[in-house]
Amino acid sequence: MPSYTAPVRDMQFVLHEMLEVSQAGIPGYEDLDRDTTQAILDEAGKLASGVLAPLNAVGDAQGCRLENGVVCTPDGFRAAFDQLRRGGWTALDCDPEYGGQGLPYLMSTAVGEILSAANMAFNMYAGLTHGAYNAIHAHGSPEQKAMYLPKLVSCDWGGTMNLTEPHCGTDLGLIRTKAEPQDDGSYAITGTKIWISAGEHDLCDNIIHLVLARIPGGPEGIKGLSLFIVPKFLVNEDSSLGARNTLECVGLEHKMGIHGNATCVMSYEGAEGWLIGEPHKGMRAMFTMMNEARLGVGLQGYAQGAVAYQNALAFAKERQQGRAVTGIAAPDAPADPIIVHPDVRRGLMDQKAITEGARAFVFWGASLIDRAQRCNDPDAEGLISLLTPVIKGFLTDKGFETCVLAQQTPGGAGFTRDLGLEQFVRDARITMIYEGTNGIQSLDLVGRKLAADGGKHVMAFFDLVKTFIAENKGDEAFEAQFLTPLKSASKDLQAAAMFFMQKGMTSPDEALAGSYDFMHLFGHVCLGLMWARMARAAGKAMGSGGDTAFLQAKIATGRYYMARQLPATKLHLARIESGAAPVMALDPAAF
Ligand SMILES: Cc1cc2nc3c(=O)[nH]c(=O)nc-3n(C[C@H](O)[C@H](O)[C@H](O)COP(=O)(O)OP(=O)(O)OC[C@H]3O[C@@H](n4cnc5c(N)ncnc54)[C@H](O)[C@@H]3O)c2cc1C
Repeated sequence: MPSYTAPVRDMQFVLHEMLEVSQAGIPGYEDLDRDTTQAILDEAGKLASGVLAPLNAVGDAQGCRLENGVVCTPDGFRAAFDQLRRGGWTALDCDPEYGGQGLPYLMSTAVGEILSAANMAFNMYAGLTHGAYNAIHAHGSPEQKAMYLPKLVSCDWGGTMNLTEPHCGTDLGLIRTKAEPQDDGSYAITGTKIWISAGEHDLCDNIIHLVLARIPGGPEGIKGLSLFIVPKFLVNEDSSLGARNTLECVGLEHKMGIHGNATCVMSYEGAEGWLIGEPHKGMRAMFTMMNEARLGVGLQGYAQGAVAYQNALAFAKERQQGRAVTGIAAPDAPADPIIVHPDVRRGLMDQKAITEGARAFVFWGASLIDRAQRCNDPDAEGLISLLTPVIKGFLTDKGFETCVLAQQTPGGAGFTRDLGLEQFVRDARITMIYEGTNGIQSLDLVGRKLAADGGKHVMAFFDLVKTFIAENKGDEAFEAQFLTPLKSASKDLQAAAMFFMQKGMTSPDEALAGSYDFMHLFGHVCLGLMWARMARAAGKAMGSGGDTAFLQAKIATGRYYMARQLPATKLHLARIESGAAPVMALDPAAF
């Protein structure tokens, strides 16, 4: 059975040494002193290790059951959900006006990693609810906010997102679900939605479905979609529960992973719903939530990698096979622990370097969201908007890769069930698919984000890298190990961006054939920047008497990333510059 310990030391390093949160000048960050963040993360860690992690395998083995329209979650989920709710963990960054704690999004992101690593399927119930909270908070009327938000903040009620239909996932312009206006101002919602996470379950008294549907007579395609609140139980004016609405879960999907989370087929038969925001502006409402939702999925991806790495590492220190080539390491044992072998080390270093780099990247991204919202800063908004598809696409690919590497570390025990590593692989896989496949993330990056506002945000990113390099010159070793590789990788990214700017206008295939490589190239440069910043911060902390062993390991891991991972930018650039011809050479009939 795998175990989980929250990486509080590493999180504290990112918050206080790398991001220097209490001096960041973002309202609310001044309260994030070391003791406060330590206390929050420690408490979250206790809940994660003691309650959620032990339920992860239970949820995987039992899955959810549909009985007479009711979905029963696995044993122990209800009690754990009550504990999550009572502890206020679902309300961390929510608006105090509706019962939230008003903490920065950064803190709920850090806690989110801990909860998600411990039990991703379980944490999705609260995650989806938070998404519904965000949508109503951003676009609901004052009456809708008063009616729904307090119960969503406390997770007494759950929330869902209903976009996908049997004939459309990516191409939401094909949505058929109908919303017919009624005399009382409500709408009758009719249609079928599939693959709806947490669409039905027994953890909450009510479920507030957010449903994308089409008001008859509106524009065709994506411009004709509107967003509706469709509660499982209708809600009276005093927020008490009324009649059962005409919607139900008619099936559960059988799937590769996240068995503890109910993936539902939802049927709406003239269900009562209320419009959020303006008619036909449903996609705009969805887009405003996308940065957070996609960052949340990027987080899920690397969080699975993080817990898989912990367990692979523990195994590598215990398992004895062969002898170290440089001399016996454990003379009293029949063999040395496998961690002595360079190839095992390579796998572990990849896992560690990706996981810690990803954590820094996501925390930085969350701080940009805070800066955008709390300081009303359009530059931060533009930058995080650019980086969001990279966070989602690159980090979920790398998170999954980390899980596979972790599974490889123990050999056969990684493939069989007892150690639990194969579950992390299966659970992490969905993060590359939902919330827009990673292929679609790369199209968003190249097709929309790169040229947004005249390319201003990508230029701002390049400036940021350049400024960091300029400000940190002078230390020869640091320059050679960190700044030179970062500069070279950033040049590769600039060359790729230039290729798209020039070719994209005349031949979209040229840009789109290289979009996936571009997303990975960009991701590597971001992680290179994160590792350079972390190594710098670790060097400074060592100078002022910090925890030497931890800080030295941080710098050594950074060196590993720069030497062994970052050069991948060269391969990605070469692929991009080979253009569309090799990719599109075959006629479909020739495959
Ligand atoms: C477990 C699970 C949970 C989910 N939870 C939810 C949920 O809570 N709510 C919800 O609404 N949906 C949910 N989904 C649906 C999910 O978001 C979709 O599966 C996803 O967006 C992709 O849609 P699709 O599967 O229909 O693939 P399609 O849209 O059919 O795409 C198939 C393939 O073609 C590629 N593709 C499609 N169009 C293009 C294009 N223009 N250019 C290049 N490539 C393209 C895609 O990348 C993909 O590889 C969930 C799905 C799963 C499996």
